[in-house]
Amino acid sequence: MREYFLPFSAPTIGDDEIAEVVDTLQSGWLTTGPKVKRFEEQFASYVGCRHAVAVNSCTAALHLALEAIGVRAGDEVITTPMTFAATGEVIHYLGAKPDFVDIDPATMNLDVSLLEAAVKRCSRPKAILPVHMAGLACEMDEILAIARARGLKVIEDAAHTFPTLYKGRMIGTIGDVTCFSFYSTKTITTGEGGMAVTGDEALAERMRVMSLHGISKNAWTRYTASGSWFYEILAPGFKYNLTDLAASLGIAQLKRADEFHLKRQAIARRYSAAFSAISEFIEIPADAPSGSLHSWHLYIIKVNSGRLKIGRDQFIEELKEAKIGTSVHFIPLHLHPYYREVYGYKPEDFPNATATYQRAISLPIYPKMTEADVDSVIESVSSICHKHAK
Ligand SMILES: *Cc1c(COP(=O)(O)O)cnc(C)c1O
Repeated sequence: MREYFLPFSAPTIGDDEIAEVVDTLQSGWLTTGPKVKRFEEQFASYVGCRHAVAVNSCTAALHLALEAIGVRAGDEVITTPMTFAATGEVIHYLGAKPDFVDIDPATMNLDVSLLEAAVKRCSRPKAILPVHMAGLACEMDEILAIARARGLKVIEDAAHTFPTLYKGRMIGTIGDVTCFSFYSTKTITTGEGGMAVTGDEALAERMRVMSLHGISKNAWTRYTASGSWFYEILAPGFKYNLTDLAASLGIAQLKRADEFHLKRQAIARRYSAAFSAISEFIEIPADAPSGSLHSWHLYIIKVNSGRLKIGRDQFIEELKEAKIGTSVHFIPLHLHPYYREVYGYKPEDFPNATATYQRAISLPIYPKMTEADVDSVIESVSSICHKHAK
């Protein structure tokens, strides 16, 4: 039995992060300035994309991306119900409507075999918004082929996907705009923060302008020696800029992205090796196919209720009693009151998303976990399975 509670997630903050933040505090420049610029450049160079626009969340990045590609009231955006609130709400911000496609239960990503039919049933489709669940890339070749054939844009929700490869290509270099999250549970963090990346200069410029009140030029240069007091409002924009304080965390975290990724990968490998011995009770998550790379932001097991006397909820309770924190990703959007009431969705409308949700448990996976932490998770999961075997 563990001595203390293992949280589901915890950031890894070291001396470099602290020093970089102190440096920013001492510089006197707290809001969007040189550190944000440096973070954008370094992030773009890591991903291998042309433009990176730092913002204060992935939600903001998704909103700006949809606005920049011209999503307007009455348009439809095709996405997955297996996602966080943000993915659906940004579509509503613009007066557009989400059109959900059920998931492939093996990957938990949207099922591309259903995509063509979904596009056809829309009257004003504008974009496809895939979510790379847990850090496993969606089938981007198929998604892009359908999008290009029908003149749709592809905006990727890559909140889980730093860093991730799809057939040798980095996520962030494939769709029209890719949106990353630096929320405190994500693979690298700025506390709160996000990044919209694109290869399209016009989209980058529109997102940059709209991220700061729709004001032309980099407003922060106004107050430096080279700046001027003059500015112009080009459109009613938003207040989505990242601060230099947050960016300083990002600069330090980015340097450790590979180290963090290797640690997550090692934990995922240990889990999968151990759980393959109890595969009649729990299903392990799919790894990326060869040539691709999983970020392992999340490690989601699925309980086989046919072989256990307990269900998912009781499984989570027993892990909690064993002092192990867990989570569930996600309660699909179509099961929430807003979506049920506004769109009349029923659980059976997206049967794979509903059934997968009912079986899913996200286990702790983060760089700060010790070998003993990983052992205790493996032991507890195995002993709960054996205790309740049917
Ligand atoms: C975390 C998350 C977001 C939102 O990220 P924020 O930076 O908190 O806005 C969006 N989509 C998915 C799938 C997420 O997990």
